Amino acid sequence: QLPLAVLLSLLLGYIAWLATASRMSFTWEINLGLAAREFELFCQPLLNARTQKCVGVEILLRWNNPRQGWISPDVFIPLAEEHNLIVPLTRYVIMETVRQIGYFPANKGFHIGINVAASHFRNGVLLQDLNRYWFNARPKQQLIIELTERDALLDVDYRIVRELHRKEVKLAIDDFGTGNSSLSWLEKLRPDVLKIDKSFTTALGTDAVNSTVTDIIIALGQRLNIELVAEGVETQEQARYLRHHGVNILQGFLYARPMPLKDFPQWLAESSP
Ligand code: C2E
Ligand code: CA
Ligand code: CA
Ligand code: CA
Repeated sequence: QLPLAVLLSLLLGYIAWLATASRMSFTWEINLGLAAREFELFCQPLLNARTQKCVGVEILLRWNNPRQGWISPDVFIPLAEEHNLIVPLTRYVIMETVRQIGYFPANKGFHIGINVAASHFRNGVLLQDLNRYWFNARPKQQLIIELTERDALLDVDYRIVRELHRKEVKLAIDDFGTGNSSLSWLEKLRPDVLKIDKSFTTALGTDAVNSTVTDIIIALGQRLNIELVAEGVETQEQARYLRHHGVNILQGFLYARPMPLKDFPQWLAESSP
C-alpha cells in the first residue's frame, strides 16, 4: 500500500500539471483566435439624456470561438489579463475599430470608448499603439479610454495620462463606485468622465442605500465638473431619475443592446429623433 504522503504528492502534481496544461491551452486558444479573427467588435450607443441623440459608442469585444461557441468577455477578459494577453487583445480592438471607423459619423462631439487595462499604460505601450494605429486614422474620432476604478488605483503612470490629455484623448473611470477606495487619486488622474456602475443604476428606486450612493456620485461629478454617464439603464424610471438628477449621458438596453459595427449606421438612422 502506498503511503498517504506519496499519494498526496502525486495528486498535487497532477493538479499542478492540469493547471499548466489549461493555462497553456488558454494562451494558445487566444492567439489562435486572434490569428483566425474569431474576435468581433460590437458597439453600444450612448445617448444624451435630454435630446435622446446618440453622442457616441462604447466598443465591446465578443469571442465567437468555433470550438466553444460565444464566450462572454466577463469570462475571457479576466483570463486574458491573468495570462498577459490583454495588451495584444486591446491592440486588436484598437486596430479593428480604426479599420471599421467609417461606420461612425464624423461629426464633432461623437466619441468612441475603448476599454483599456491598467497594464497597457505601462512603459508607454498604450501611447505607442495609439500613435501607430489611432492618431493617423481618418476621419479623426474622439477617443475615450475607459479604465476601471480598480485599475486606476493600481499602477497607472500619471505622466502617460497627462500625455493622453495633451493628445486630446479623454479618460473615463469605468464601474465608478465599485472600487472601494479613497478618492484622493481623482485629483491626480483628473478623469473627464465618471461611468456610474450598472449596479447603482439598477438599484435606483428599489434600494435606498445604493440610491443614496448614486446621489453622492452625481454630486461629486458635478462639484468636480466631470461628465457623468450612467450604464445599464433598462427602464424609463431609471432614465427619468438620472436625467432629473443631472446625469447627461445614458447607456443601456432601454436604448440599444450592443450590436456589430456594421449595423450601427442603420440603428442611428432609425433612432434619430
Ligand atoms: P463594461 O465595460 O462595464 O461594459 C458594459 C457591460 O454591460 C457590457 O457587457 C454591456 O453589454 C452590458 N450592458 C450594457 N447595458 C446594459 C443593460 O441595460 N443591462 C444589462 N444587463 N447589461 C448591460 P459585456 O459586453 O458582456 O462586457 C462585460 C465586460 O467585459 C465589460 O464591462 C468590460 O469590463 C469587459 N470588456 C468588454 N469588452 C472589452 C474590451 O474590448 N476590452 C476590455 N479590456 N474589456 C472589455
Ligand atoms: Ca466599459
Ligand atoms: Ca462599465
Ligand atoms: Ca460594469
